[in-house]
Amino acid sequence: MSRPDGSTDRTPGREPLLSVSDLRTVFYTDKETIHAVDGISFDIYPGETVGLVGESGSGKSVTARSLLGLVDEPGVVEEGTLEFKGEDLLETGWAEYRGDLSIVFQDPSNALNPVYTVGNQIREALAIHQGLRGSAARERAIELLEAVGIPDAPRRVKEYPHQFSGGMQQRAVIAIALACDPDLLVCDEPTTALDVTIQAQILDLLDELQREEDLAILFISHDMGVIEETADRINVIYAGEIVERAPTERLLAAPEHPYTEALLNSIPGRTPPDQRLPTLDGEVPTPDGPAESCRFAPRCPVAVEECHETPPDAVAVGENGTDHSAACLLAGESEPEGEQ
Ligand code: SF4
Repeated sequence: MSRPDGSTDRTPGREPLLSVSDLRTVFYTDKETIHAVDGISFDIYPGETVGLVGESGSGKSVTARSLLGLVDEPGVVEEGTLEFKGEDLLETGWAEYRGDLSIVFQDPSNALNPVYTVGNQIREALAIHQGLRGSAARERAIELLEAVGIPDAPRRVKEYPHQFSGGMQQRAVIAIALACDPDLLVCDEPTTALDVTIQAQILDLLDELQREEDLAILFISHDMGVIEETADRINVIYAGEIVERAPTERLLAAPEHPYTEALLNSIPGRTPPDQRLPTLDGEVPTPDGPAESCRFAPRCPVAVEECHETPPDAVAVGENGTDHSAACLLAGESEPEGEQ
């Protein structure tokens, strides 16, 4: 099925777990109308990790909240479909699927309630989503803490969040998310607040859990280096729009959108050690109306006059014509290697 933007990342013969199509989330304030998510589409299949990467303010977290029905006023999901297990969540609501979709937020210290023990918070999720209570819930809470690598779980389950380190708090948040026995885990910058060693441990943990539980993961980050390590397929988001999508290997080898290239260039190790990491001047604009030009044009190093007058559509640039698309007027213009 092709999307309103003409693109598709569908895999023939497989049904996506979640299919997002033309999602639009708008915030209405007294001063302005912000089109935070402006017509994005992507699919997530069972057992895969899909990356959503972009700078701060690009619409990543609003996308995550839109998927889970957690957009607060003055925001509203205005258009689109969120087809989960064949039903449009925007039509049915989330009640029936609450346990099937879980989220891990960026800052574990804010996600945990300081006045309840970690065990209490896991048991609450088990009671709501699994109907488990009493000793069965206690045992399962310990099992979940063990599954996320908390040592001495029978003792730790009785402790409060402030008695956990940052890395252990994030593991506890993941344990709470898993208590729902989800099919899809949305990880919104789950390692940003952690140091690099703990970050690597949490990424390994998510990888292990995914293989064991056949979880689908939407991994959201501003850090292309983290995304390239975790995702099977990558969506690059800029100012509320997906500007490029491709399988990870393909995107790393042959980015078509200048913004993707800028994100890739920011990964340490891709630039020779004697050179400074390239930076991108300016900021992500706030989309306050329908796009009338390429939103990246003011920052784009290769912009031409037309970029300031015409919003680019996503065009297929993949070898098989379906798995790689980019929304750039110059996409597909570079000559294949060896053809001069
Ligand atoms: S459409 Fe133009 S401004 Fe936008 S990314 Fe492509 S080249 Fe740059």
